[in-house]
Amino acid sequence: MASTNDNGAAQPAPLYESAKKIYPREIKGRYASLSKLATLVLLGLFYIVPWLTWDGRQAILFDLPARKFHLIGLTLWPQDFPYLALLLIIAALSLFFFTALAGRLWCGFACPQTVWTEAFIWMEQWTEGTRSQRMKLDKAPWGWNKLRRKVSKQVLWIGFSLWTGFTFVGFFTPIRELAPLLVNGTAGGWAYFWTFFYGFATYGNAGYMREQVCKYMCPYARFQSAMFDKDTLIIAYDEKRGEPRGGRKRSVDPREAGLGDCIDCHLCVQVCPTGIDIRDGLQYECIACAACIDACDSIMDKMNYPRGLVRYATHNAMHGGTTRVLRPRVFVYATLLTVLLGGLITSMATRTPIILDVIRDRNALYREVPDGIENIYTLKLINQRNEARVFQLTVDGVPGVVLDGADDAITVEGGGVLTLPVRVRVPRDNAYGIMDITFTATVIDDPDEMIQEDSRFVGLMP
Ligand code: SF4
Ligand code: SF4
Repeated sequence: MASTNDNGAAQPAPLYESAKKIYPREIKGRYASLSKLATLVLLGLFYIVPWLTWDGRQAILFDLPARKFHLIGLTLWPQDFPYLALLLIIAALSLFFFTALAGRLWCGFACPQTVWTEAFIWMEQWTEGTRSQRMKLDKAPWGWNKLRRKVSKQVLWIGFSLWTGFTFVGFFTPIRELAPLLVNGTAGGWAYFWTFFYGFATYGNAGYMREQVCKYMCPYARFQSAMFDKDTLIIAYDEKRGEPRGGRKRSVDPREAGLGDCIDCHLCVQVCPTGIDIRDGLQYECIACAACIDACDSIMDKMNYPRGLVRYATHNAMHGGTTRVLRPRVFVYATLLTVLLGGLITSMATRTPIILDVIRDRNALYREVPDGIENIYTLKLINQRNEARVFQLTVDGVPGVVLDGADDAITVEGGGVLTLPVRVRVPRDNAYGIMDITFTATVIDDPDEMIQEDSRFVGLMP
């Protein structure tokens, strides 16, 4: 649509509407307390976990240079990549499962964007005041009061963002070593880059972008509706009960006045972090934070009306039908999740913490030595446990076979890799053709813990 300029001349309408700043109002209530608790617990975990140690090492550390992920007592190696892939698939399926059951619970209470935005809004409230004070402050001309409040907010935001960036990097670099290195300027370019980059992303997303991340950037917001059906739990306004909306005194009986229970106070809109009106029906912008439920319940209490004009409900329940919790898609997600989780737990429980790789030297078929025929191999022994293990290496498969180059007791440090060149010798009378041999690495203190690897021995050609 065209608009006119100051001189009355027609000019094309801008292609993009600039985003209006939203000033969410603080609200108290059941769901606000739950959200506060979720924010504190999740942020607490994020900031505290990298400082925890386990067995003398950082409990959670994604050590990319060493290609090892330490997850408390468990160390995942590149060979364990399938576990990681499975874990990600399980996480995605869980999201589908809970979305089908309970809508956007994740968005409202656990998504990092929600959690950090909540923390940034707290800082905004501490420094700039309530919703109306913030709106007034933004409209006010610059002066000492505005400057003081805005600077205080920025100091808190920037400090918190940098701490977040530092903590994020601390999941990938031992955080106790990183802290002094960052301070004395010797941490290395990448550590500084990621600290500032992640800090900047936090500052921008939680401080300024806020609901726009959910509305325009988050892919989940776009496709989650595909997981919704009429039995999915959503936050809904009870139109039948609320309409016709309108203001009235507390003493007025709404039925006699021909009104519904909605007093059109707009409190549900003022508390909404995405700035929508829940009374317009289910909208993709709704992150299901339940702030409008608390807001409306507080009004219902004041008016002495029953709570729940805005409430958690399903489309079917809102329209007089019955809600079916157990439905085909829930069964499908639940079955897939059970199977994958079962598979993951079983394979992790039966995972061998030692790996033996045998690589035969391909440069020479065999070597003739005074007491037989010899082949050369390189053994790679990986100890995935956190403690050192002492191994004994043996070989069998051919009568009289002997292993040279491996001591009786070979120590491999916890999380260590030992590369060992060895020679395998077979008496000349038995060394004809290509024969299967088996290398065995046995833990000396615990003979039940052992691993075998097959290879080939090349002898004289008959
Ligand atoms: S409509 Fe209600 S639940 Fe949805 S985002 Fe707004 S306040 Fe949160
Ligand atoms: S808070 Fe409740 S009463 Fe007030 S406008 Fe929203 S739905 Fe109506």
